[in-house]
Amino acid sequence: MSTNSFIIDGKTPINGEWVGADSGVTFPVYNPANGEVLGQVPDQREAETNRAIDAAAAAFEEWQWSPVKTRHDILRKWFSLMTEHAEELARLITLENGKPLADARGEQTYSASFIEWFAAEAMRAYGDHIPATIDGVRNVTIKQPIGVVGIITPWNFPSAMITRKVAAALAAGCTCVIKAPSETPFSALALAKLAEEAGVPKGVINVITTGSSSTVGKILATHPIIKKISFTGSTGVGKVLASQCSSTLKKMSLELGGNAPFIVFDDADIDAAVAGAVICKFRSSGQTCVCANRLFVQSKVYDEFAKKLTEAVSKFKVGNGLEQGITHGPLVNAKAAAKVDEHVQDALAKGAKTLIGGKRGEGAFYEPTVLINIADDAVVMKEETFGPLAPIIKFETEEEVIKKANDTEFGLAGYFFSRDIGRVWRMAEALQVGMVGANTGLISQTSCPFGGVKESGWGKEGSKYGLDDYMVLKYVCMGGINSRR
Ligand code: NAP
Repeated sequence: MSTNSFIIDGKTPINGEWVGADSGVTFPVYNPANGEVLGQVPDQREAETNRAIDAAAAAFEEWQWSPVKTRHDILRKWFSLMTEHAEELARLITLENGKPLADARGEQTYSASFIEWFAAEAMRAYGDHIPATIDGVRNVTIKQPIGVVGIITPWNFPSAMITRKVAAALAAGCTCVIKAPSETPFSALALAKLAEEAGVPKGVINVITTGSSSTVGKILATHPIIKKISFTGSTGVGKVLASQCSSTLKKMSLELGGNAPFIVFDDADIDAAVAGAVICKFRSSGQTCVCANRLFVQSKVYDEFAKKLTEAVSKFKVGNGLEQGITHGPLVNAKAAAKVDEHVQDALAKGAKTLIGGKRGEGAFYEPTVLINIADDAVVMKEETFGPLAPIIKFETEEEVIKKANDTEFGLAGYFFSRDIGRVWRMAEALQVGMVGANTGLISQTSCPFGGVKESGWGKEGSKYGLDDYMVLKYVCMGGINSRR
């Protein structure tokens, strides 16, 4: 039995109290590496969600007017507590998500960095002075918190997806209700516990766990008190929430699915491109939203790239992420492994060839896989696999690959490798995505704006732009000021 002091059984924080479900019903959380039950969380529904919204609304009355220095200091304390407990929190991520401990440590650091970042950004929510175009007035803008925020996050970054939103919300002066992901709720609860210790007042952060995300999601999206929904997850659920939010015209941030192209040109440094593909395609076993989904390689270097990538993949050590030397863990559950297999079988049926992998392991495991000769109508060309499958597609010209790369409704991230500076600029401008990696497979940084275009969503998280998503810009025109003319 795995133990972790942050596994908080059967309770979530609502209005500063740690409570279960009104019904007393709980549901289990599993370790995807071995199917072991890690603990139970409450199955909370309408009544608990409404109480959490009321608590957040009451807390907003105070928190929105708190001096930014107070918010800064509390967030800094929260950051320090996360750093102090870094190892235990990283192990918790591995236990509930399955990613190897080294990746979980990376997520823990990344997650804490959003709290550190937004603590500082709280102090910089500047407005403007705008020169008057009419006599006797002065114009300024001020930024104010939007209100109570509903936050819904996925399991693939159990900790960082929460802090990227909550730290910005709290820094802005908002309060929130978090609907935690069912597969990985303990990281959210651990964060809430540390926030409480750091001095975040009661009701500012409320967490709901539920066996019916559609019920809780609908309440958050339609409730008049909630002024904004911040959602990270699939495009399908994002569209449902967007239509529900239209009833009260709520502001939304949507960080949705991707189908990232990863392009290698003849003039690229092939070893660097292979290293980039390893991190970009296979990190967290291919379960990051910015993962390469389609690997396009120019014909002259196609064979060399495929061979070198296959060699690199053959060195992976797949297993329980808590064990020494494991580089790649299981997928989040057996259903996710079955989806990867569907994409592989579909590509094979349409003429693809397996260079390595291609088989399911026990439970949630899937072998890291490289396929070549991918047909244009293979499912993997259109759909996000969200697993350890690298399909390599041959192309001839820059024009051709731009067209193919953009031939998707998604637009989150895109990557390419080339040593021609003109091509680097052309490609960065031509890819219809929100984030570009030029000669790198790793782009996420707290200080840079994260977000997509097209059906990958709206809004930016992190960076100097992230706070604005939780604020409203108010224009104040002050009249009655005598002119000196
Ligand atoms: P998902 O099914 O959309 O779930 C995400 C969250 O939404 C979970 O908390 C889930 O709750 C909840 N949810 C599910 N159905 C809902 C509904 N009808 N109403 C309200 N909430 C609902 O996505 P996933 O499969 O877990 O996550 C993978 C997806 O997230 C991928 O497409 C990936 O690309 C995307 N993603 C995007 C980003 C980004 O920043 N763009 C980052 C990470 C992941 P339960 O857990 O209870 O089901």
